[in-house]
Amino acid sequence: MMIKIPRLTQSIFLDQLIYMQLAGVLIGLAFPPFLVWYGFPKHEVFNWQFFVVTQIAGQLVGLISFLLISTVVRPHLKLLSKKMQEMTSGLEGKHFVDYKEKCQVDVCHLDVVSNDEIGISASSYNQLLTALIEAHETEKVFNQFTQVMTENLEVEALSEKTVELLIKSTNFSAAAILISKSGELEVVANKGILEPEKLGKRAVLKDALEKGEFVHIHLPEHIQLDGVLTQFTPSEVLVAPIEFKSVHLGLIVAASGSLSSQEHCRMILDIFSRSVGLALNNALTHSKFQRLAAYDSLTNVYNRRFGMARLKEEFSKAERESSPISVIMVDIDHFKRVNDTYGHLTGDRAIILIAGILKNILREGDTVVRYGGEEFFMILNGANCDNANRIAHRIRNQVKDTVFKEGEQLIPLTVSLGLICYPQVTVKSEIELLDKADQALYHAKQNGRNRVIEFGKTGEENINF
Ligand code: GH3
Ligand code: MG
Ligand code: MG
Repeated sequence: MMIKIPRLTQSIFLDQLIYMQLAGVLIGLAFPPFLVWYGFPKHEVFNWQFFVVTQIAGQLVGLISFLLISTVVRPHLKLLSKKMQEMTSGLEGKHFVDYKEKCQVDVCHLDVVSNDEIGISASSYNQLLTALIEAHETEKVFNQFTQVMTENLEVEALSEKTVELLIKSTNFSAAAILISKSGELEVVANKGILEPEKLGKRAVLKDALEKGEFVHIHLPEHIQLDGVLTQFTPSEVLVAPIEFKSVHLGLIVAASGSLSSQEHCRMILDIFSRSVGLALNNALTHSKFQRLAAYDSLTNVYNRRFGMARLKEEFSKAERESSPISVIMVDIDHFKRVNDTYGHLTGDRAIILIAGILKNILREGDTVVRYGGEEFFMILNGANCDNANRIAHRIRNQVKDTVFKEGEQLIPLTVSLGLICYPQVTVKSEIELLDKADQALYHAKQNGRNRVIEFGKTGEENINF
C-alpha cells in the first residue's frame, strides 16, 4: 500500500522541498540522542551549538537531495511535459498538419531512457503520438476518398481514382478493382498488375466474391506486378470484398511488394472496400440509366439525341485532327407498305433486322444511330469516300439478300443510302454533314430506291460499286 503524504502547495516539487527540509529538521533533532545512545558524553551533544550544527547539516542534506531530484528526475518530466504541450497545441485545428510534418523526422518522439515510470510515460507518449498521426493520416485519406466518391459518377473513373488513391496513401505497389458482371469478374481499374484479366478467373477471387470475405494470399505465384525495370511476384495480396446491402458487387485486390504490409494499410483498404460499395452501386445504376437514355429500346442502337451529340463530337475531332469522316444515311424503301400489309409488329421486326445488319457491318469505333422511324445514320470515323461507298454497298446488298418472312410469306426488303465524306466535301458543321447525307438519300429515292448515292455525284457515277 502506498503511503499518502498530504499536499502542501500547488507544486509537487515545492512540496518535495518542504518535506526534505522537514526531514532535515527531524534528522537534526534525532542525531544528538542517537550519539548519546552510541556513547558520546551528554554535555558535548546536548548544547545549542551542536544543535545548530546538526540542524544545518540536516537542512543541507535535504537541500542536496532536492537538487539531485531536480537535476536527475525533473529534466525528463520537463521534456515530457514540453512534448505533450506541443502535441496538444498541434492538435488544435490545422496546426496538426504542420506539426505532423515536423514529426516525420522523429523530432517529436521521446527517447526512452529508463524502465521505470518515466520510461513508461515516454514510451506511452510515443505510442500515443504514432496513433494520433496515423489517425490523422487516415482521416486525411478518408476525406480525399470521400471527395473521389462524390466527384466521380462513372464506374471507370470512380474505380480508377480509388485505385490511385489507395496506392498513393499506402505501401501497396499495385491494385485493381473487379466488378461482377453476369457471374464473371471484370477488371474496371488496374494499376501495376500484369494481365489483370486473368485475376478474375482465379478460383480464390471468385470464392472471395461469393462469400464476401477478406482474403490474404502469401506469395501468389500467379500474380505478377509491373516493376520499374522488371516484373515480380508480390509478397502478399489482399482481396477485400465490395458490398452494397449484402449484394456482392466486386473486389478490391491490393498487392504489396514489401514483406508485410503495415496494419495501417490494411485498415485503409478495409475502409475503402467498405465505403466504396454505395458509390459503386450508384455509379452502376447511373450507367444503367445512361444506357437507357442513350439507346433506342427497339433496336439497341444510339437514339437520335445521343447520336447527334456523338456526331458533333466526332466531327469536331475530325476537323481538329484533319482526319476523314463519313456519314451514311439509310432509309427502308416503301416501308409504309410493310406496315400496311403485315402490321406494325412485323414492321418493327424489319426495323430490328436492318439495325442488326448495320451493327454487324460496322467496324469498332463506328456508330449506328436510329434517326427516326425506319431511318438510320452511321458515323464512320476515319473512312474516306471509297471506304464509305464500299460499306454502303455492302449494306444495300446484304439487306436485299436477307430473307425476311411473315409466316410463309417472303417480304422483300431494300434500303436506299445517301452518303457524304469529309473533307472531300467541305462542310462547316455536323448538321450540314447530316443534311447533305440526307440530300444524297433523297436522290437515291428519286433515282429508283435500292441504291447508294454519294453527295455531289449522280446516280450513274455510283453504279460501279
Ligand atoms: P420511302 O421508300 O420513300 O422511304 O417510303 P416509305 O414508305 O418508307 O416512306 P417513309 O420513309 O416516309 O415512311 C416511314 C414509315 O415508317 C411511316 C411510319 O408508319 C413507319 N414507322 C415509323 N416508325 C416506326 C416504327 O417504330 N415501327 C413501325 N412498324 N413503323 C414505323
Ligand atoms: Mg422509308
Ligand atoms: Mg423514312
